[in-house]
Amino acid sequence: MNTTKYIFVTGGVSSSLGKGIIAASLAKLLQARGYRVTIQKLDPYINVDPGTLNPYEHGECYVTDDGAETDLDLGHYERFLNVATSQANNVTTGRIYQSVIEKERRGEFLGKTVQVIPHITNEIKERVQLLGDTGDYDIVITEIGGTVGDIESLPYIESVRQMKWELGDDNVLVIHLTLIPYLKAAGELKTKPTQHSVKTLMESGIKADILVCRTEHHLSLDLRKKLALFCNVQEEAVIESIDASTIYDVPNLMLKEGLDMITLKKLNLSDSTPPDLEQWNKFLKRHKNSKNEVHIALIGKYVELQDSYKSILESFIHAGAENEVKVKVTSIHSEYIDKNNVAEKLSGLHGVLVAPGFGERGIEGKIEAVRYARENNLPYLGICLGMQMAVIEYARNILGLEEANSSEMNPDTPHPVIDLMNEQKNITNKGGTMRLGSWKCELKKDSITEKVYNAKTIEERHRHRYEYNDQYREQLEEAGLIATGINPDTGLVEIVEIPSHPWFVGVQYHPEYKSTVANPHPLFVSFVKAAYKHSENK
Ligand code: GLN
Repeated sequence: MNTTKYIFVTGGVSSSLGKGIIAASLAKLLQARGYRVTIQKLDPYINVDPGTLNPYEHGECYVTDDGAETDLDLGHYERFLNVATSQANNVTTGRIYQSVIEKERRGEFLGKTVQVIPHITNEIKERVQLLGDTGDYDIVITEIGGTVGDIESLPYIESVRQMKWELGDDNVLVIHLTLIPYLKAAGELKTKPTQHSVKTLMESGIKADILVCRTEHHLSLDLRKKLALFCNVQEEAVIESIDASTIYDVPNLMLKEGLDMITLKKLNLSDSTPPDLEQWNKFLKRHKNSKNEVHIALIGKYVELQDSYKSILESFIHAGAENEVKVKVTSIHSEYIDKNNVAEKLSGLHGVLVAPGFGERGIEGKIEAVRYARENNLPYLGICLGMQMAVIEYARNILGLEEANSSEMNPDTPHPVIDLMNEQKNITNKGGTMRLGSWKCELKKDSITEKVYNAKTIEERHRHRYEYNDQYREQLEEAGLIATGINPDTGLVEIVEIPSHPWFVGVQYHPEYKSTVANPHPLFVSFVKAAYKHSENK
């Protein structure tokens, strides 16, 4: 018998209230009590996955081990829970419709008219229960993207109603996250928008079981009572979610408010094991109490939107806590860096990270930043495009191949030191066709990375189309840029290092996707350490 419990998290009043963080925090508390939990995100947009979206639209695209290009909330889930997610953890409307239409073409609906109800809603319910049916989880938390009342989310809300009806209140719980705005002129917190959004949910046949209220000020007892009465929830099911200085505080805040207790009670699950948050709190203490600072440049072209480099920024938080230093990241737009101002732009910084990216815009600035870091012994970490830029810089300035480039940026370059592999050459579709997901990499003995990982073989996640061109390897290595990580299956170069430099590493993969609170990524930990050392030597 399948006893998996399902929790849905919906949002009301406004977007960006942090449903993902609430879902991840509740999951953390339940996990800390010994439950096996996973989180899923349902996105109401029509893209099949966020892989084709510009980072300005939805922030970073997060990649799982199985090569799914997913919503950045999955990154929070992994960072909080330290459990890997997969394609099944992120479903979009595009994917749902694609699957239903494919079934229709195969004749699976036996001549029936294919409709939103029941065909689309059945597909949604199947996708939710797929995770429960694995038997790997006691609880599946499903976050529904968007805001209640949106046209796009209607089929999802209807699916929740059906699941609650089919499986019963003991097995399906709805948590509604809303905003309690503070009106300065009136000096009051206002509940009306929340009342309206709960009402909208009810119009779709769903009664919220728990109300989580985002607020800038504490909720008084009277206000909690009012919310309970007007929104038809128990008083203890009104949970305050006050603004926090870091997202990593939210699990403790939710613990204090009893979100886990009321959840367990409503799902008829035991609350006898108290949550073990020892490791979590140790991390928090280090994160908050570190006094020394290290300043790192993050160079990219989407720096205006913090969410574009979410996993990198979070990896620095984990690595900072591990080193007991505060990592201060200065984001610098690569388009505004040139030969003349690079020294000034990077002055006072102790390490340089060149971020992943696509397309030509801003690459000359990135190459200048690499050159500056290399020439000035500044610790350098290049991720994906940042690794490719390091190869191009070396080829241009050390090998003297002035026009060296990636064929992504200049298809006619005489020296494509970064190039397309044959299997990519005939691909015309953009969606889901890059080298994606987890690949093996063998590390060269005595390299920085071998020491950092303390392993011979590693597995890291990828998201790119272009590769290090092996034809230039001999020249580059002779000149001092060594390939220290090789994919054993394909022979492709995954890592480059400069052994004569204090800390210069370029990786073709994305270490940032695998850094978690419980397991800070060793490359980030080592990079921050090197940057801190650099700051002390200055
Ligand atoms: N644009 C480069 C490629 O496709 C790098 C991609 C990335 O940085 N994720 O190979």
